Amino acid sequence: MLKFYNTLTRKKQIFQPIEKNIVKIYTCGPTVYNYAHIGNLSAYLFADLLKRYLRYSGYKIVDVMNLTDVDDKTINASQDHNQSLRQYTSFFINTLLEDFEKLNITNPKVFCRATEHISEMINLVQDLIDKGYAYQADDGSVYYKIDSFGDYGKFAQLKKNKLKNNASGRMISDEYKKEEATDFVLWKKLSEKDGEVYWDSPFGRGRPGWHIECSAMSMKYLGETFDIHTGAIDLIFPHHQNEIAQSEAATGKQFVHFWLHRSFLKIDGKKMSKSLRNIYTLKDILKKISNPLVFRYLVLTNHYRSSLNFTFDSLEASLNSLNRFQDFIDRLTKVKDLDINDESSLKEININIKKTLDRFKEYMDDDLNTPKAIADLFCFMNKINKMIIKNEVGVNGSELIRKFIKNINEVWGFLDIPAERIDEKFKNKIENLIQKRNEYRLSKNWEEADKIKNNLLKIKVAVKDGKETTEWKIIK
Ligand SMILES: [Zn+2]
Repeated sequence: MLKFYNTLTRKKQIFQPIEKNIVKIYTCGPTVYNYAHIGNLSAYLFADLLKRYLRYSGYKIVDVMNLTDVDDKTINASQDHNQSLRQYTSFFINTLLEDFEKLNITNPKVFCRATEHISEMINLVQDLIDKGYAYQADDGSVYYKIDSFGDYGKFAQLKKNKLKNNASGRMISDEYKKEEATDFVLWKKLSEKDGEVYWDSPFGRGRPGWHIECSAMSMKYLGETFDIHTGAIDLIFPHHQNEIAQSEAATGKQFVHFWLHRSFLKIDGKKMSKSLRNIYTLKDILKKISNPLVFRYLVLTNHYRSSLNFTFDSLEASLNSLNRFQDFIDRLTKVKDLDINDESSLKEININIKKTLDRFKEYMDDDLNTPKAIADLFCFMNKINKMIIKNEVGVNGSELIRKFIKNINEVWGFLDIPAERIDEKFKNKIENLIQKRNEYRLSKNWEEADKIKNNLLKIKVAVKDGKETTEWKIIK
């Protein structure tokens, strides 16, 4: 049974979507004022893995990721570069999409820019004012009144007596620390520094705060209550706490059922920071290694809830491991057909595949235990390698293994599997067997004919008898 660690309850819980077979997921995307660093990317890699595994488990995914293209950072940086906000942020949205492609991250169905959803945000702010959860202060900005929401602070486990109400000041900045929990901004009144970046609203000219953006866009595309919200762990407070306060105050309903957070990425045991000059991007990584999927592999070998200590040595080790996988796949495509009857070897391969698949499900169902699942894939590879050395894997067996790896790589996404091909020898062999079977059928030797049909099924070949001919195809 699929279980995730839910930040909402601080427990592992059985996952059930609200609608049968459909999972609705929102991921907090980047503020597009610079290249995404590898910490950001590790959070998106985690969200990608989660969605891939849910798809593998039979769910249809409806997913949304936001792009914060208006805030202090984007405005300041665009002004420094003498570009319009749109022009400046578009460049970094494109570089993000390039990074996604290199890392084999599937693009979300909806990628939404904050600046294209201002009216939804204004409506939500108005709703919060009407319901008594927000107010326009003397400074002209609109704030969320945290003491109006009874559960404020519960999600982020803040101590009630540490919360300050509007008497102790308000927070106009989008990012702040736990000890600064105060009324936070929903709509920022236009300031001179913002230049041309403003929108008209019932509360005057200005722009939205960061937190309201995710509440408005997630609810627009996924509904008032949806299944999973993901993000980096540092977003728990204030961002996700504020999203909950805004959304639940407006709708009176539970906002999200499962909150999943990716832990920190450290560099050489230290926090990434400008002062340490250790903020790396994918570009920096690609100066050392040419295959970006090595970074994907490295991130997935680490469990998402334990912090990942990135070093260039660990990148090198991942490169070596991934090369071993690739060599293995290569070796598989080169095996020669076996002279002897390969039924017992096929049986052994099938047993190994089944056991590995069962364990894969067991580990991944347990809060996406990727380190265990990848280690187990290594064990599988070692066993098969031994069989290859002993000449116990023929073309049929290698085809089974290739298909199995291709299937599992829909989740991993770090292996390069050659396109589906039916080996000429394999094809001849199947056709010879079918001819033999047809001869048995003509002589009404049903027993032998069925035996061949069953043997073909074991190697995932299905036959279909027509009036004149027998068709065959490889099944999944
Ligand atoms: Zn967000």
